[in-house]
Amino acid sequence: MEYKLTYEQFQQGLERGELLGLKCNTCNSVTFPPMVRCRECNSTDLEVTQMSGKGTIRTFTVIRVAPEGMTPPYVVAMAETDEGAWVMGNLVGIDPDDAHMGLMGKKVSLGSHLVKGDTYSGGDSRVITFSLV
Ligand SMILES: [Zn+2]
Repeated sequence: MEYKLTYEQFQQGLERGELLGLKCNTCNSVTFPPMVRCRECNSTDLEVTQMSGKGTIRTFTVIRVAPEGMTPPYVVAMAETDEGAWVMGNLVGIDPDDAHMGLMGKKVSLGSHLVKGDTYSGGDSRVITFSLV
């Protein structure tokens, strides 16, 4: 099976400040983060595309009991990118104790930050971040 954009290539893009997604040549949907198949129509006819880096907060939660290596509290959110794909990440730049329902629907810009590997992961990796705009 051919991977148009591997996890490693996606991570390397994040390191360079690039948000790489996959545009479907069958239905024009954008899949982000990258997967083997189009999130809408299951096609494998995909090409690498640059995401706009803009999105909208659709849901979030404040993590107060964190896994190994993470320091609570922090905010995990789901954002809908302007391209339509939903992605999970950390909402940064706000005090987690000030997080409230008013965050729903807020516009964000996407970036990434480095998260240290733990016992259960394959090492350090970059995770998507959201910053309020
Ligand atoms: Zn498609």
